[in-house]
Order: sequence, then C-alpha cells, then structure tokens
Amino acid sequence: MNYHISQRAASLSPSLTLAIDAKAKQMKAEGQDVVGFGAGEPDFDTPQHIKDAAAEALAKGFTKYTPSSGIPELRQAVAEKFKRDNGLSYKPSQVIISCGGKHSCYNVILATCQEGDEVIIPAPYWLSYPEMVKLAGATPVILPTSDKTEFKVTPEQLRAAITPRTRLFILNSPSNPTGTIYEPEEIKALGDVCVEKGVLIMSDEIYEKLVYDGARHVSVASFSPAHYEHTIIVHGLAKAYSMTGWRLGYLAAPEPIAKAIDAIQSHSTSNPTSFAQKGGVAALTGPQDHLAAWLAEYSKRRLYAWRRLNSIPGVSCVNARGAFYLFPNISGTGLKSTEFCARLLEQEKVAAVPGIAFGADDYIRISYATSMANIEKGLERMERFCRGLLGR
Ligand SMILES: *Cc1c(COP(=O)(O)O)cnc(C)c1O
Repeated sequence: MNYHISQRAASLSPSLTLAIDAKAKQMKAEGQDVVGFGAGEPDFDTPQHIKDAAAEALAKGFTKYTPSSGIPELRQAVAEKFKRDNGLSYKPSQVIISCGGKHSCYNVILATCQEGDEVIIPAPYWLSYPEMVKLAGATPVILPTSDKTEFKVTPEQLRAAITPRTRLFILNSPSNPTGTIYEPEEIKALGDVCVEKGVLIMSDEIYEKLVYDGARHVSVASFSPAHYEHTIIVHGLAKAYSMTGWRLGYLAAPEPIAKAIDAIQSHSTSNPTSFAQKGGVAALTGPQDHLAAWLAEYSKRRLYAWRRLNSIPGVSCVNARGAFYLFPNISGTGLKSTEFCARLLEQEKVAAVPGIAFGADDYIRISYATSMANIEKGLERMERFCRGLLGR
C-alpha cells in the first residue's frame, strides 16, 4: 500500500533529540550506566499542594468538559499573575488555557500565519518553532547568532530581516536551548522595531521564573501600550512548577487574536484536562516557596557545569543566567554536533542534544536539570572523550 502523506506532514524534520533520547533509553534499559544531559524538564516533583488540588477535583467528580479556553477561575488566576508579576492588565477573555505551552505556541502561529507569510526566528531556537511555522504553511526566516554575542539578535539584524510578508517575530527569553536572557533595554529595542514595522511578537516566557545571578525577566509587552498591542505572550506551568506531564499552558493576547485561538482550540483539542486545570489554579494562586530552593540548586549546578565545561579541551561555554541549559561550543574538537553526540553516547554513555537540532551545529545542549552527581560524572566522561579526540 502506498500511503499518501500530506505535504504539511512530510515537510517536517524528524526530531534528532528523540533519536538520541530513544538510543539513551534503550541503553539504560539494557542496564548500561548512561548519564543523561538531554532532559528538557525539571528533575523535581510537582509541589504537593498542586497535586492535592487536582486529586481533590478528580475525587469530587470534576471530570467533564470545561469551556474550551479553560475554566474561568484559571483564566482569572492567569490574568492576576500577569498583573502581579509583569504589571500587565489582561481581561480573562484575553487569556486562553491550552494543553501545554507548546500547544499555546502552535495556536498562536496557526491563528496568525498562513501561506506566503514569513516568521522571523533567532537561532539557536527551540526546535519546534520552525516546524510549527511550516505546519501553518508559512516560511521560517532564521536569524543566526553565536556565542560571541551571547546568542542575542540585534535590532539591526531584526530590522533587515523584516519584509512586507513578515507576520511574526518569535522571542524566547530566557532561552531554550542557550539559557540566554536579554537585558530589559535589549528587549525594548527589539520590541520598538516590531512596533515601528507593524510586526507581531510571540514572546515565549515559559522560563520567566528560572533566572540567576540577579537577572530580571521583563516582558516585551510591558514597555508601552503599543508594545502590549503587538505582543502575544505564551507561557505555562511546566517549568516553574515542574508540571510537564500535566499538559497545561496559557497565553495572553489582544482580544481579536484570543477569539481566533478560542475558535481553533474549540475545534481541535477542546479544553485542557478538567482536573489538571484545578491543579493549575493551585499552582498560580498558592504558595510559591518551592521556587527559591529549586533556583538555588539549579544555580549551583549551572556554575559548576559552566566552569567544568570550560576546563575541557576543545570546548568553550558562555555563562547563561536563565532556564536550565548551557550551550557549549564544541567546534574546537573538530567535530560537528551530530557526530560529537553520537560518539559521546557510544563511547562514554553520555547523552546530550546536538546543536543542529536548534539550528547551531557547532554546539551541544547540556541540561542541568539532573543531579550534581550526574553532572560531575557526565562531564568527567566528556572530558575524557574530548582529550581522546584531541590526543591530549
Ligand atoms: C518547555 C517549553 C515550552 C512548553 O512546554 P509545555 O510542556 O508544552 O508546556 C515552550 N517553550 C519552550 C522554549 C520550552 O522549552
């Protein structure tokens, strides 16, 4: 049988991260001692009061359809979060609850982009953005950056890439995969260009709370009413509350865009899981004190891994003040990222994600959402691997 696969689906790149991950899991299952730096999720458990709220909702029979854009209580809690944390006023009708931050991103792109449209994405990028743009029939326009500029795009670069077909600029600070956080004035300058040119910004702020060394997250929407009107914020509970498996994300948008997204969601997924949404309310309105301990632990690992990576021959790494990733440059080893990661896994049983998956082939992504003991063991093996490659 010759199955017909749609052009949309066939145009997607298969996920390299999944291939490496599958191999690492298989090796682990065979009893091999694999160190995983591939995780894109916190290694902490969801705080107990959040689990309790969802369990109670389930026990009480809160198991039916909810409004497609989420329960009013959660949309209100999200609106209050934006007021409290970002000084932004959104009506609950401007807030859509989705099945994960990833789903929020996809909804935004689908609601604003179509054939002939262009979407500007700085590289290294979160690997799903370009694929989502292609699924919408639009064209990703990639702006390369390097570790020399801490992986930041400049307003000049952005301005030069804008054409009459540009619909969206995707901003992700703090960033996955680099951990880079833009300074407030840098965010404002990028926002200024978009306002001037009439380009919408999709600002993915899911790592907002995971910042270190006194770094401050500022939303691009907060600089002026014009910035607010040009911005859609996507966010979620996965990273700050360790709720990756719950599939809960949210976005805040100008009213007409929120309406369009509500229509899309009502015909695709309908509502996010009812009792998970009750957990979401507990997360946003309950105690936030888990975070200080998590941040202290992440930051300790980050500084250790950053120093250790820079002591490995052939490897250099800029420090990062956000998320839970480092993005070391491995070009000094003479290998490109896919071969580097494949051989590192094969020879030393260390799993890392090749930078090519994020549009940057001279780098690999190291997640420090794993124990200090694993980080020490994994980086020691990586050093042995690199010394072997370089003969020193
Ligand atoms: C993890 C992540 C998301 C959303 O994850 P969900 O699990 O779908 O909530 C969105 N953007 C970036 C950059 C991420 O790393």
